[in-house]
Amino acid sequence: MVKTGDFQSMNVKQLKKIAVDQGLRFECVPGCIKCCAIPGLVFVHEREIPAMAEFFSLTPEQFIRKKLRRHFGRIYQLDMPTSEPCAYLSENGCSIYPVRPAQCSAFPFWPENVADPQTWKKLGEFCPGIGRGRMFSIDEVSDIMGTVSYGPFL
Ligand code: SF4
Ligand code: SF4
Repeated sequence: MVKTGDFQSMNVKQLKKIAVDQGLRFECVPGCIKCCAIPGLVFVHEREIPAMAEFFSLTPEQFIRKKLRRHFGRIYQLDMPTSEPCAYLSENGCSIYPVRPAQCSAFPFWPENVADPQTWKKLGEFCPGIGRGRMFSIDEVSDIMGTVSYGPFL
């Protein structure tokens, strides 16, 4: 079994291999909704629930019951069809932006996306924000990756 720490250090090593100029350049493009429009699962860690519940003026228990499904252990998923774009995507972008899950705020710096140069480059063909904007240092990227380090257990 891969432990979280092992997984992160493994990816930091890989990250160093693909990082150009000691970092990765990224800036989300205003108005772009491509990653939110991909059908799939959006995970929520238990620690994210209190803030999300407050955003909806619900108690954590109500929020879990009305908006989430338990996935595994401390990991939940947003309760919505997995064959459609995210249910919280509105015409103005993410309707829960201030409390969007770490899975969303960490994109595109997911561990699997920085696994090798080919994957990062290929993702750049999908995400127009990759390669533009400011340079994120390796330390910054590894910190961001750490917010979704539960990924290997999903
Ligand atoms: S695909 Fe990239 S640029 Fe577009 S919304 Fe997602 S992160 Fe931003
Ligand atoms: S919660 Fe918001 S940021 Fe995350 S996928 Fe849905 S619309 Fe996008």
